[in-house]
Formats: sequence, C-alpha cells, structure tokens
Amino acid sequence: MRSFLSACLTTLALAGCSTPAPQSSAPSDAPAAARDLILGDSVVAKVRELGSDKYQGRAPGTHGDTLATAWIAAQMKQLGLEAGMPDGSYRQTVPFWAAAAKFTITLKAGGKDVVLNDSSTAVVWESAPTADVAVDDKELVFAGYGIDAAEAGWRDYKTPVAGRIVLALYGEPTRPDPAQPGKSDTTFFLGDELGWYGFIMHKAEAAGAQGAAALLLVVDEKASGIPWSALQSYAREWSHLKPDPRYPKHVPNVFFVNRKAADRILALSGRTFDDALKAAGDSAFTPVGLKTGVSIRIKQRIREFGSDNVVGRITGSDPALKNQAVIYTAHWDHMGIDTTLKGDQVYNGAVDNALGVAGLLELARAFKAAPKPPKRTVIFVATTAEEQLLLGAQYYVYHPVVPLDSTVADLDLDVENTWGRGKSVLAMGMEETSLGELLTGMARARGREAKPNPMLVAGGRYRTDRFAFARMGVPGIIYQGGDLVGKTPAEEQRLMGDYLATRYHQVTDSVRSDWDMAGAEEDLRLFFELGWRLADGAPRPAWKMGLRHTLMFGKPLATGR
Ligand SMILES: [Zn+2]
Repeated sequence: MRSFLSACLTTLALAGCSTPAPQSSAPSDAPAAARDLILGDSVVAKVRELGSDKYQGRAPGTHGDTLATAWIAAQMKQLGLEAGMPDGSYRQTVPFWAAAAKFTITLKAGGKDVVLNDSSTAVVWESAPTADVAVDDKELVFAGYGIDAAEAGWRDYKTPVAGRIVLALYGEPTRPDPAQPGKSDTTFFLGDELGWYGFIMHKAEAAGAQGAAALLLVVDEKASGIPWSALQSYAREWSHLKPDPRYPKHVPNVFFVNRKAADRILALSGRTFDDALKAAGDSAFTPVGLKTGVSIRIKQRIREFGSDNVVGRITGSDPALKNQAVIYTAHWDHMGIDTTLKGDQVYNGAVDNALGVAGLLELARAFKAAPKPPKRTVIFVATTAEEQLLLGAQYYVYHPVVPLDSTVADLDLDVENTWGRGKSVLAMGMEETSLGELLTGMARARGREAKPNPMLVAGGRYRTDRFAFARMGVPGIIYQGGDLVGKTPAEEQRLMGDYLATRYHQVTDSVRSDWDMAGAEEDLRLFFELGWRLADGAPRPAWKMGLRHTLMFGKPLATGR
C-alpha cells in the first residue's frame, strides 16, 4: 500500500480516494426521526446488561467472552443488521495466544548485580510465543529514546545494537518553547503531546529492525504521565495476536521497567537517570555500551484461543457506492476477573467500554429506522482485545470485510460522557484528515465546538481502535462531550480525575446512579449524523500529509494489500 497510498494520499488531498467515487447526488441529512430514536435510557439499559457481573468482566478467551459476543451478535440480529461476514455469520474469529509470564532479568557489572522479577519494577509487554525464553549474558546498551526516524530528522541508532539488549526511554525528547516558558516547542516532535516515536509500538519496531535481543523500556511516571499501576496490569495473563508475517516486526522480548529499576540498572555502570536523560535529549546521541551483562528468563504457560470481532452491516442503497463503507467500532472486551482481589473481583467495564458497545447498537438501531439505507454500506464492528492494545482492530484491518481502500472512515466509540451535556466535543483524529472540518461544521450547526481531546497529550491517539485503522490509511475520529454545561472547568477536571483515579481499569467501573446520559445521547446523535453524511455520499475525507502526519504516524506501513 505504501507506494499506492502515497499516490492516493496526494490525490486524496485534492478530490477523494482510490476508486474514484461514482458521481451521485449530494448526501442527504440524517433522517431526524431515526436520529431521535437514540436515547440515553436505552443506552444505559444495554450497559446494565453488558456491564453486569454476569459477563465476568469480558476478558478475551474466557466464558465472559462467550457470553458477551453471543449477546452482541443476538442484539445485532434482533436489530435487523445483516451478518457482517462473507460466511453469513456475525463473527470474525481472531486467533490469539496468551500467557501469564513469570520472568527474571539479571544484570551484572563490576561484581554487583540487579535482579528484576516482579511487577514492583518490571512487567513483560511482549515475549516470544514459547513456554521458555532464555537470553544469556548479552551486553546492555543504552539507546536514548530508541527512536529511528530519519523521516523526522532523529536517529538514535547511529551504531549497531544487533544481538544486544537495549535500554531506552519511553516518550520523545522535548525542547523548551522560547516564546512560552514552561511549554515545549511544538515544532520539535509534537511538543508536549506524545507522538508516534514516543509510543511503545515504535520503540518495539525500531529495536526489532536493529536486531536487538530484547528491549527494556523505562517508563518514568512523572515524565510519561502513566501511573505504574496501569502498567502492572500487564503482570496478569496477556494476549497477543498469533504471528502474521504482514504485521509490523517487533523486538522479540519487551519489558516496561520503572524509574526505580532504571536508577538501579544505571548505577551498575556509575550513571544516574538524569545523566541518561540529558544524553538522550541530544540529537548527536549515539548508543552507549553499559558494560553490563544481562540474562533473561521467561517462563510462561501458553494458551491459544479464538476471540471474535462481532460484525453486522447495512448494505448501501446505491449500486456503486454500496461497495464502499463507513465503519463504526467499539471494543466489547475488558479486563475480566482478578481472583487475587478481596471482595469485588469483576472488572465490569461499564464506562470502558460497555457504554461504547451500547452506543454502537443504538446507532445501528437508528440507521435501521431510516426509511432507506444510505448510499454506502455501514459496518458495525464490536472488537475484541482492545485493552491488549487494539488487537481485534489490528486483525480486522489485515482482514477487512470491505477492502480498506474502499473504507471511507472509522468512527470509534470508547468511553462515553456520563456527566451531562457538553458545550464541546473533544475529538481525537480531527487534525489528521478533513474529518475534522466536517465534524467542526456539524457540531457548530448544533451550537457546539469541536476541539482536540486533552487525552492526546498522554498518547490517547494511540490507545483506541481508531488508531489501528488510521495507521493503515483509513481516516478515523473518536470524541466525547466536554466543557460540561453548568459545571466549571475545575469541577469537570475533578470529575475526570476522580474517574481516572478511582474507576478507570478498576473493578469499580460500574453503572452509577449519578450518570446523566443527556450528554452521551447528544454525542451519539451527532455521531449518527456524521456517519450518515459520510455514508450517504459525502466526499471521502482527505488526509493532511506533511511532517506533523509523519510525527503522528511514522513511516506508512507496507500492508501487502
Ligand atoms: Zn476502552
């Protein structure tokens, strides 16, 4: 797709993508009666079901998975959606392997050693799919930020590290903005916003391309804004897509290590974290051998299973445009049950993301209520394993039911607003393509403002299914309501902070009596209108290419399509 894509993208900026859109009448407005069927109460009723203990926290490859996908498929059928798969089923089975890894990393230098063997200092993010992984006495090399981005003018791997173990920093270097004290220069990488090169996926791909034996990625809570507790959830059983030669290649073994561990590792060679940080921020940086020998042992009980993306569709009404599609996605999976917890052990995932699935079904109900389907086909995909880093969506984009170059856009739902109506929609993806202008215009017509979601700073761009599509060239957008009506910014901050601290990815994420669904209802109705406009023949969204695109997405993927 690379070469094809670049050709396509340039034309796209001009007039629309790949298969030229057959001439058709302008898109009609979404049928109001159908739109107004979308109701907050109906959404909550579905969340009460899917977010209940009955679904056992919906972890992929568990009984909760079986129950959740059966319920979603039955809902799609009941709503009159066509089976989304060519075989006439609603299920796209994604092949997984999973393991709960026990590991020991032993680092030796100058007669001293450091041993990391539990989540108080390190967790396995990715490992070779074998029961026993052994890496013996390899040299440790500090690779700075571990960024390999000639296209963005930054290359840390100026000397080879093949066969060795890389220690690198999460995130990207920053430069102070001379005009704004305390702020980072947004023309250097993406400033304070995390870009592609700061994200784990790039680090794993870059170290893999260098032939490293393993990667120890240092996540400093303060610098990254990521609480170590969020990464400790990797200590539980973790799923991976079964290997496919088309997937981006990663270094075989990847660990997150925290600041405490990094301090101890660097001290073995008489260095401090601040030394490392300073050295890494210099564009002349070159990898540094730390004269430290590293051995790694990973023991893992491997389990293989299939887990389904649940797929329904409404075939388009236009003889030509029906071959193109608009996709709505929402992940159904969450984090299952943790039997080590006292009391409540079920991760209900009501907000994350039973709400999104309920929204997806509510949108389908509205589309089905329209007097006539829109011109293009509309596909509804409830994805699996998003919590394991977008795996169901990644599998889908390599096995699309409608070719990606006929896929007009992905409209993603992940966490909806339960705090009442919002004056704004806080979006991710709006600066990437002309979807941003479309959303801005449609929101403004309803007295609302569309603006970038603050979650982008901490890497929100890479943490919803939307990114799996966008990385493969499919424009995508996701948003939640914000600037809440009747609440001060401080109150809103407190609400968001309280959710992140006390419920996000915790067993306490259940339906609450204080939910005000007027906001989610309004957001879903706008998402219906946006999807309708796109599906009913609006010009295909255009990508905005250039350095910012590269800093957000890196080098386009060779998809082998
Ligand atoms: Zn989610």
